Amino acid sequence: MKILVTGGLGFIGSHTVVELLNQNYEVILVDNLYNSKLEVYENIKTITKKVPIFYQGDVCDPDFLEMIFERHKMDAIIHFAGYKAVGESVKKPLEYYENNLVSTINLCKMMKKYGCKNLVFSSSATVYGSPKELPIIEDFPLQTTNPYGTTKLVNEWILKDFHHSDPSFGIILLRYFNPIGAHESGLLGEDPNGIPNNLMPYILKVADGSLPKLNIFGNDYPTRDGTGVRDYIHVVDLAKGHLKAIEKILKEPIFDVYNLGTGKGYSVLEVVKAFEEANQIKIPYEIKERREGDVAECYADVSHAFEDLHFQAEKDLKQMCKDAYRYNQRKKERK
Ligand code: NAD
Ligand code: UDP
Repeated sequence: MKILVTGGLGFIGSHTVVELLNQNYEVILVDNLYNSKLEVYENIKTITKKVPIFYQGDVCDPDFLEMIFERHKMDAIIHFAGYKAVGESVKKPLEYYENNLVSTINLCKMMKKYGCKNLVFSSSATVYGSPKELPIIEDFPLQTTNPYGTTKLVNEWILKDFHHSDPSFGIILLRYFNPIGAHESGLLGEDPNGIPNNLMPYILKVADGSLPKLNIFGNDYPTRDGTGVRDYIHVVDLAKGHLKAIEKILKEPIFDVYNLGTGKGYSVLEVVKAFEEANQIKIPYEIKERREGDVAECYADVSHAFEDLHFQAEKDLKQMCKDAYRYNQRKKERK
């Protein structure tokens, strides 16, 4: 089976490519290196001892995509390519709408033209906005609070309409909760540029001394210790969820939506404690004002993915903290 993976050198894409190669799928990788490095391709080859085909280019460029579809008959696409920074999307909405929507529309056009029938799309728990109840079920009302989230929601609508126009196209939307962690080899992980926005990359910068302390955004939320609660999922578990989705969609051309999380919520203070215990490092922190746009609590009901895809996350928070730290240390040693 031949799978096209867009954004395949990014954080989640690279881990998914490794799992696909380990299961003997043929993988065609596409990435424009906007938010990734070529060394990720080398590391994928080192880990898997396989050589997937890689094309450097932009999924928004129809001629580039056409060249790939002319050369390879794809069985399915996993579409990770996109911009993902919430704050940046508020400042650059047009770039976000263009990149995140045109890429999907181009892929759908190629699917029609070349008869590729299946697509798995990277959506996000952000489409639930501020949930009224917990845990979050897939049919909860959807609402977004920033351009990034809106691109995910509009992508979901486009893909739903695409499936309705021709139900022989199978589409699975995966709504990720909070992916963290790294590959156990220490060769793949999350590598954001500049000062990180997300919790785990920020903790890593504090752990290695690049930043003096963690700022915790609010301790007056209605949660067990007042800090924000999220559903953190190990990126390798998340990657395996994509294989389950591919297996499902290759069997029947469904349209369906799945939460991918662990179903458990952890507070910021619990993550700090788990990191300290897992790695024997103190993380100094200071309580600051709440961050604008943050919700108090967000965790998934994972029963649909469990019952329908037979997917269950296996790695716990301590493992996520250990693997993330190992990647960070190895990355520093390699530099
Ligand atoms: P990432 O930035 O690490 O990976 C995305 C990859 O896509 C990068 O390598 C980038 O260079 C590439 N890319 C971007 N635009 C492209 C284009 N037009 N053509 C070709 N390549 C392009 O992000 P990630 O964390 O791996 O996320 C993957 C997907 O999952 C994204 O769509 C993201 O919005 C979504 N998602 C991520 C999270 C998260 O917390 N990481 C949560 C929910 C959803
Ligand atoms: N957070 C924090 N300090 C940081 C980054 C994040 O206290 O430097 C908190 C944030 O308020 C939220 C949780 O950590 O409660 C997870 O934040 P992240 O940005 O990683 O994920 P998201 O909010 O997008 O789910």
